[in-house]
Amino acid sequence: MQILFVIIIIAVIAAMAYVGRKLYLKSIMMRNRVHMSSIYTNITHELLTPLTVISASVERLREQEPTFSDDYDLMQLNIERMVRLLQQILETSKSQSGELKLVVAHGDVMQYIQRTALCIEPLMSKRRLEFTIDCQPKSMLGWIDTDKLDKIIYNLLSNAAKYTGENGKVELQVNTNKTYDHIIIKVIDNGIGIPKEKQKDLFRRFFDGQYRQQQTIGTGLGLALTRELVFLHGGNIECESEEGKGTTFTVTLPINKESFSASQIDESQKVDINTARSVILDLAIRMKTTTEDSIPQPMENVDDDSYKLLIIEDNVELLVLMHQLLGQKYRVTTASNGQEGLDIINNSELDLIISDVMMPVMDGYELTRRVKEDPNTSHLPIILLTAKTQEEDRTEALKIGADDYVTKPFKLGDLELRINNIIENRKRIQREFSQQTAEETQQQVSIEPVSADQEFLKRALDCVYKHLDDADYDRDAFASDMGASASTLYNKLRSVTGMNVSGFIRDIRMKEAKRIALQQPDLRVSDLAYKVGFHDPKYFSTCFKKTYGVQPSEFLENLSKDQ
Ligand code: ADP
Repeated sequence: MQILFVIIIIAVIAAMAYVGRKLYLKSIMMRNRVHMSSIYTNITHELLTPLTVISASVERLREQEPTFSDDYDLMQLNIERMVRLLQQILETSKSQSGELKLVVAHGDVMQYIQRTALCIEPLMSKRRLEFTIDCQPKSMLGWIDTDKLDKIIYNLLSNAAKYTGENGKVELQVNTNKTYDHIIIKVIDNGIGIPKEKQKDLFRRFFDGQYRQQQTIGTGLGLALTRELVFLHGGNIECESEEGKGTTFTVTLPINKESFSASQIDESQKVDINTARSVILDLAIRMKTTTEDSIPQPMENVDDDSYKLLIIEDNVELLVLMHQLLGQKYRVTTASNGQEGLDIINNSELDLIISDVMMPVMDGYELTRRVKEDPNTSHLPIILLTAKTQEEDRTEALKIGADDYVTKPFKLGDLELRINNIIENRKRIQREFSQQTAEETQQQVSIEPVSADQEFLKRALDCVYKHLDDADYDRDAFASDMGASASTLYNKLRSVTGMNVSGFIRDIRMKEAKRIALQQPDLRVSDLAYKVGFHDPKYFSTCFKKTYGVQPSEFLENLSKDQ
């Protein structure tokens, strides 16, 4: 009996110790969460304050110098985005630490939802989506926290808009249950849908979703926060989705007073359907700014022989901004992913490529690899825009053959500087080539090439030397000897030497003419002309004079005199 008593006492003590420890750990966890939350709160506020200052400064500039209104819109849109993201982070951390409070007020729930959804209408029409709102009944009283409900509706509808292609459909249906104490909100789209394997993690924070494929911005916070807000409101959220067919999010929320505790009920306030949330309004309106249609036409002051740049970037705003800046000096073509870029590269004449690294369809590394591997395009310099800052990413960029890289966020001036460096470097190489003597040029054929460009030049020189006295050796024959199309040969020669095909052949012929003349000053002009592949001595003389400033006859005469 005594033993049993002792065992019971020990068991009770053990149980108490176990429960106590659990409570203690929980309280530490809670304290850590609260602590983390207050750190988050401080950081986000520290970031929100300067953003607010920037935003106010932009507005002041707008008043003083209204001509740049598009730029101000762009700045505001991006400030708004950052603010929204920071607010989401803030709210997520508050919700985790239990600091997010629910405050419900009484009013017409259906009308409120209808008004709120109408504020998102501009976002839908901008994306050319058919948007319908169907609330049944049209009017119904209940208790809701408008701030939380706004965010739930905005997150679901803006996701539906993001992940539904142009001309798709988005529908907001709101119904009630038989006892009128719950509302059922359905956001239905016929967009891209969510793959089965991704559905289970959908509400996980920082979920790595498909926003890149949709060429929009994503954080993976929206749905996690939405679910937390729904739970806070005592409700439930479910998702049904089929890839390629569409997605339906169903949110069920209680709206009867009994579902909330006394501290959650605010009797002093009424739901005001006329104060549609400014957050939503602002965002929806600001969303209007940039689309690919905003990409400017080529500037008139850019002449035809300006350098031709291709910019590949999936963020339309950054693309437009780069186009605006660089378009003043260069002829700019744009693409929004690597594959699109590659098609342009293979079908047009370009001098330089600027490409983002992280892009849908084909990323910047793959693009660089393909451009540099293809002998037809390997001469094109590439600058990569990398968002990563780690040393290995830079090494990777250069290893696969990128000529330079710029780390995001970058100043457009810095990018311009790099472009100029590459172009100046090319120009220097071209100048050096055209100033070389025949001997120096010939030497290039015998040295071991260290780059693809040198290898190309060596082969090109070899072809022309082999046909030096062949007056019929023309562009097509040259291209076929090089195993390239006439246009590829033209592009590569222009890039490496700054000359076109016939200019290059003539340059070699002229250099050789001078060299031969110096060795054999007794030659007749016509013989010299034939030796370097000219049928017509007269035309040879014209070219010679143009290159060296004297007639070949004079040149030979002076040499003979000197002997
Ligand atoms: P974000 O959109 O910022 O990535 P969310 O948490 O809002 O973050 O969404 C997470 C992911 O869920 C998205 O990246 C997307 O892949 C998927 N998703 C959300 N809503 C939809 C929808 N209506 N249709 C298709 N996919 C969706």
